Amino acid sequence: PQRQDSDAPIRQTDTDAAVARLSAAQKQYLNDPFVKYLVPRAQFQQPRPPLINIGTYVRTKGIDDLVEEWLSRAAKTGKQCQIVSLGAGSDTRFWRIATGPHQDVIKSYIEVDFHEITTKKAMSIKKSRQLLEILGNPDEIKLANGGTALHAPKYHLLAADLRSDPVDTLQELLTQPSNEHAILSAECPTLLLFECVLAYMTVEASSRLLQWFVNYFSANGNEEVAKANSPLGCIVYEMFGLNDSFGKVMLNNLRARNVSLPGAEPLTTIGSLISRFLDSGFQTARALTLKDIRRSYVESEELARISRLEFLDETEELDLVLAHYAISWGILIPSPADQDSWSD
Ligand code: SAM
Repeated sequence: PQRQDSDAPIRQTDTDAAVARLSAAQKQYLNDPFVKYLVPRAQFQQPRPPLINIGTYVRTKGIDDLVEEWLSRAAKTGKQCQIVSLGAGSDTRFWRIATGPHQDVIKSYIEVDFHEITTKKAMSIKKSRQLLEILGNPDEIKLANGGTALHAPKYHLLAADLRSDPVDTLQELLTQPSNEHAILSAECPTLLLFECVLAYMTVEASSRLLQWFVNYFSANGNEEVAKANSPLGCIVYEMFGLNDSFGKVMLNNLRARNVSLPGAEPLTTIGSLISRFLDSGFQTARALTLKDIRRSYVESEELARISRLEFLDETEELDLVLAHYAISWGILIPSPADQDSWSD
């Protein structure tokens, strides 16, 4: 069908992200022993240029630090938490967390993407002894929905088009009691991840998605019911500020590959990233560019280690590129009793 074909370039961006992650891991920017099992051998390419490797490093480090902070807080409150990664593609974060110090804090980790991507990922998982071992008891690892979904004790891979009305898709997938894998509980602290995803959908579609989660955790504004609910956090990684001359070059490069960015073009300032959260009902929000994160949030020993890995002669260009990407995050705390332990 027409619609699927026009989405092929969007799905292709997952291969770009996975190949960039593989390259950064091979060049020792990142420690990711799992990415090689999720990138088909045919797509193993030359390593990406240093600028891309550094960008992948800063983005991953920034998101990792926030996720780590979230898991530590959940651990301190004695609660297990849920992570929902929307447009997860070939991401390996579940396996990294499941083999890391906070593995016991995870109650469930849910990934959602187009069915073409989830089918491919489910097959790669089924083929990899290393990935399967970490998923747990083999008897409890099952393909579902014609191979587009996979369920394991803590890990769930689900297919959906995130542009559809969440009431018709996510609500059914995640919360209907009639669905044996309806796994999302508003009583567990829950972190949403949108890593390079919202740019590909309209602002209306992404607001509807954020709003759906906010309504679910705030019990549609019923404060009495919401008291029993746990905090909802959300991390978004995205391009922004594409209205300047460098941004226009970035947009044109993507357009040449038939990728349009209806969700990123309206984001002209860092303030617009924060407003997106506040307008959807999150109580607090912050945002930092990758340029800021590299300058102020990466430890000096790490910066020194990174600078020794490869020679980078385009430092001005690096700053220009990193200034057009940002990590933003918001928190909703439905119960006043949680304010002290979860607010910033
Ligand atoms: N989050 C992963 C990462 O950072 O490595 C993948 C990022 S990739 C650039 C974007 C992903 O979002 C792709 O896997 C794509 O299929 C998915 N995606 C984009 N629009 C989507 C939609 N409407 N519904 C489901 N998935 C979508």
